[in-house]
Amino acid sequence: MSSRVLIIDAPSYQDVSGPVARALKELARDVKGKKALVKPNILAAHAPEKGVDTHPAIVREVVKQLQARGAEVWVGDNSGVGGYGANERSAKVSGIMEAASGCYRNIALNGKEINFKSRFCDKLVVSREVLEADLIVSLPRFKTHALTVLTGAVKNTFGYAVGGEKSRLHLRAATFTDFGEAVVDVFAIRPPDLSILDGIIAMEGYGPNNGTLRKVGKLLVSQDAVALDRVMAEMTGAPVEKIPFLKVAGARKLGETDLKRIEIEGKLERIPNFKLPLNLAMAPIGQMINRFVYPFIRIRPQVDADLCTACGDCKKACPAGAIEIDKIARIDKDKCIICYCCNEACTYQAINIKGPFRSFLGLGQKMLNTRK
Ligand code: SF4
Ligand code: SF4
Repeated sequence: MSSRVLIIDAPSYQDVSGPVARALKELARDVKGKKALVKPNILAAHAPEKGVDTHPAIVREVVKQLQARGAEVWVGDNSGVGGYGANERSAKVSGIMEAASGCYRNIALNGKEINFKSRFCDKLVVSREVLEADLIVSLPRFKTHALTVLTGAVKNTFGYAVGGEKSRLHLRAATFTDFGEAVVDVFAIRPPDLSILDGIIAMEGYGPNNGTLRKVGKLLVSQDAVALDRVMAEMTGAPVEKIPFLKVAGARKLGETDLKRIEIEGKLERIPNFKLPLNLAMAPIGQMINRFVYPFIRIRPQVDADLCTACGDCKKACPAGAIEIDKIARIDKDKCIICYCCNEACTYQAINIKGPFRSFLGLGQKMLNTRK
């Protein structure tokens, strides 16, 4: 595995053939006759212009070029964390099913229980395609994440786990440090052969669902998903030592987190004033908070009654059974483990995760920004 990261200029989704061709050169292996799983990030059923899921233009081009090289291509992701029926709807609405040009597979339909190396549980059901693919090309999106700070190449592999399995893990790894570790446990099952991060339009602020879109105009590419995320973190100004999944992945030597040891091709530049989520992990005394105070002061999700359509998607996604629909979604705070899965699942932006500790966190954010 090479700890080399390419930063490729890709100004728009109109024509991504050149940037994708450059990206796929990094595969540097014969893919003819190989089964290639293309794994976009399909968080939920969002239209492409929302900027939540991997843009279908990238998926279309990757599929086309892998097929031209003779690969047998499958495209799929396990969307959200809830029921098994969400995948196809999400793939359709995101435009990815159409972009997959006949290669789409609902990878939730044929899961396989495996022995899972994790302190949170010892078995996990993952998509059989993940286990059977000769190569995996991961297509994450450049976004912030309320729980993991950033979501990129490592976090994209969390979608290997089928439907409710993600909920089960969320429930057992509820703090931001535990969840970061659980993300790495899943990543370690099968690190992708190549990751191509869609950073043409990124998301800042309250990602991965409710953030603000920001033009960055780049694809980040690497065989080393950890190194790729390290470079993405550098671009955003996020403090790497406070991103649990990067710390764990680096400590387990699953990839390179030392920027000095990563070969970077292309121009690495800080995105001016990139807005990170107000995450307790990054607060000035984050680790102490995580251990002793976090369970009491975490920012609770709140339902916006004006935006809620009572569709019930959040109820299906909630691993703790904390949501009932009574004209609108209602959250039982005694059951809620504050995992933000409902926020991810809601396509109406009706779940807020901006809480009373915003000003405290804002102070942390300001301190971070002054370090840039
Ligand atoms: S909060 Fe969102 S997902 Fe939940 S019922 Fe309301 S609109 Fe649907
Ligand atoms: S209500 Fe609480 S436990 Fe349920 S999905 Fe939302 S944040 Fe997670």
